[in-house]
Amino acid sequence: MKIICIGRNYVAHVKELGNEIPKEPVLFMKPDSAIFRQRDAFYIPDWTNEVHYEAEIVIKINRLGKNIEEKFAPKYYSQFTLGIDFTARDIQKNLKALGLPWEKSKAFDQSAVLGEYLNVNDYSLDNLNFELKINGRVVQSGNTKSMIYTIPQIINHCSEFFTLKIGDLIFTGTPEGVGKVNAGDELEGFIEGKKILHVKIR
Ligand code: ZN
Repeated sequence: MKIICIGRNYVAHVKELGNEIPKEPVLFMKPDSAIFRQRDAFYIPDWTNEVHYEAEIVIKINRLGKNIEEKFAPKYYSQFTLGIDFTARDIQKNLKALGLPWEKSKAFDQSAVLGEYLNVNDYSLDNLNFELKINGRVVQSGNTKSMIYTIPQIINHCSEFFTLKIGDLIFTGTPEGVGKVNAGDELEGFIEGKKILHVKIR
């Protein structure tokens, strides 16, 4: 399976990083080895001094598809969750400045955290509140209605380039409020007030 991530999909987040509003979805990928499997904690790698959290709604693809039209896109996922796209921002800044690919900063081991899956039918995905707390304080508070590209538009665009397969994940972008994690932090993610994920930082 593969993990496709959307960058720059919330205006306030695009601005906080000093980026341009994209003219089409910005895509990058993480390999399956990026999935966070440590049950106890996320260990900050020793090659970075600045790992940022990015809380994002993640959809799980449940049908094989290519060139999926927007109107049919909702048939391709039945589960979603909240995830964290951990990003080594210092490494990413250097790579961006050199015009090089971002993978080292985005696709490293344990960089894709996934919460408990929820059923699409129980929620309204185009108006979904989600939140990330660090040590009990809200640091990111988003709603999917602020996305520049909707989930069906994202699926349409991704599937023009990449065949979507069962089990693939799509991280749909982060709202504003990204920041650095520090050893000792406790991250908690919520969808519509329901606690979906919990990660300790070491
Ligand atoms: Zn992200």
